[in-house]
Parts: sequence; structure tokens; C-alpha cells
Amino acid sequence: SVPLAFFGGIGAASKAGVLVKGSNYLESVAHLTTVVSDKTGTLTKGVFQVNDVKTKEDPQKVLYYAALAEHLSTHPIANSIKQAYQGSLDEQIIKNITNVAGQGVICETSIGTIYVGNKRLMEEQKIAYENSEDAVSTIVYVAKDAKFLGTILISDEIKPEAKAAIEEMKAAGVKDVVMLTGDKKSVGDAVGKQLGVDEVYSELLPGDKVEKVEALLKSTDEKHTLAFIGDGINDAPVLARADVGIAMGSLGSDAAIEAADVVIMDDNIKRIPAIIRIARKTIAISN
Ligand code: ADP
Ligand code: MG
Repeated sequence: SVPLAFFGGIGAASKAGVLVKGSNYLESVAHLTTVVSDKTGTLTKGVFQVNDVKTKEDPQKVLYYAALAEHLSTHPIANSIKQAYQGSLDEQIIKNITNVAGQGVICETSIGTIYVGNKRLMEEQKIAYENSEDAVSTIVYVAKDAKFLGTILISDEIKPEAKAAIEEMKAAGVKDVVMLTGDKKSVGDAVGKQLGVDEVYSELLPGDKVEKVEALLKSTDEKHTLAFIGDGINDAPVLARADVGIAMGSLGSDAAIEAADVVIMDDNIKRIPAIIRIARKTIAISN
């Protein structure tokens, strides 16, 4: 049977804007020692902005191709490109769009195939690209057929509450804060450093994130648990694997919210240290 205090704990969590899907998760939250977080949309706002287009062609044309290829994508990168391109799109020329997890999109059209994504996408598609370097921007490479057209420089912002949230998690007993990202190393390292994250792993594919979490789970037990915080469709397998899967409620994809054990309704990660404190009090009461 579930002790009454657990219902009090779940109620207190819900008043704090956090949906806890069962009393067993409250117990796991009380024993959190490792918090693993995705970067985009979780520690950063996930609202990207196009800052520059580097190309020898017409920049509007590069944005046009990219916006066309991203037509069906809801990835924060796709949204920023569609917002930056103000013109009209001939969606009817699109024949097929493929999402390549952790890389970007490939869009077949009646005027050729458009590739929009990171370096890895260019490499896998064997497209000769010009390297573009910028420590803090996410760089989106655009190509049409075998021809590299240019890059779109995009940046995201760290959530203002993220640093304090991490400090509070540590004050509440979390020993290790780990950030996982599909983004490139320089961006991952810069964000991790600004936030005081203990370990950063970058350039990961969704499958690599599952492997990292599984490796970290080996050093956990009932009294030293691991949470994963994420928001994307690709995060669902990792959310399911962690002792406590925590999803963002408003930015999060339906798949992430469904796979999660705990949902933060307003996406404010300061709710995490708050529920750790609530869970600890609840456990103390029910023991
Ligand atoms: P994160 O781990 O930061 O949430 P994702 O796994 O969503 O990142 O994506 C990893 C990388 O793959 C992005 O930084 C980007 O380079 C590339 N990417 C993914 N989806 C898209 C897309 N729709 N358009 C362009 N690039 C993309
Ligand atoms: Mg993500």
C-alpha cells in the first residue's frame, strides 16, 4: 500500500508545477545523485535565431532551400530557418522528406535533392563542403544535389534560471550533473562551462545518449538514482531508461511527455530542485 504522505508529496509537487506519475518516482527523486540533461530546449531556450548566412550564392536562395526542406520539421533549428525566410514556399514541388536523427533533413523535390543539417550529414552524403567555424553558433550546412551552397549560423540562449537550478540541485544532494547534446563540441563545452555542469558529452546521436545513460546507470542503486531531463522526440528512449525521466511540459514533444515519469509543466528547471526537496520531506515523513 502507498503511505498517505506520498499523496501529500504528489499534491505538493503538482502545486509546484510538477506532475509526478506515481509515488515510486517520488521515492527515486528523493535519492537523486546523478542528473543527466539534454541541452537544447532543456538548459537552453531552444528558440534559435538565424544570425548570418555565409554563401557565394544569394543568401535568400539558400534560406529558401533550407526553409523548403525544413517544411515539415518542428525542430527548433527548423523553426528558426522558417522564421528567417520571409518569402513564399512552393511546397508542391516536394516529393519526399527524410528526417535524419542527429543530423538534419533530406528533401527530394522536382528541382533536386536538398540537404540541410550538420557536418555529419554532409560527410555521410559525401558532399564536399566548406568548413565553417564559429565557437558558439550551431552551423547548418545547406546543399542541393551534390553542390554545397553555404551555411546558416544559428544561436540559442541559455535559460536564465539554468545556472541557479543546477546550483540548487547540488545543494539538494545531486553529486553529478551531466549534459548530453547532439550539437558540436565547442557549443556543448561553452554551455556546460557557463552552467557549472560536471561533464559534457557532445556530437551524440540519439542512440549514443541511451548508451551514455546506460553506462552511468551502472554506478547507481536504489539509494543513488539517476534522472534524465529532455524534451525531444529522440529523447523518449532515454527518458524511459533513466530511474526518473523528466520531460518539459510545454516545449516537450508528446513522445517525451508520454515516456516521462515526471513532467515540468512550465519548462522551468528550477522546479527540479524544488521537487527533490519535496520528495526528501515526503520520504522522511513516510519512513
Ligand atoms: P540536442 O541534443 O542539442 O537536442 P538534436 O539531437 O536535436 O540536438 O540535434 C543534433 C544536431 O543535429 C543539431 O545540433 C543539428 O546540427 C542537427 N539537426 C537535427 N535536426 C535538424 C534539423 N531539422 N535541421 C537542421 N539540423 C538538424
Ligand atoms: Mg533536444
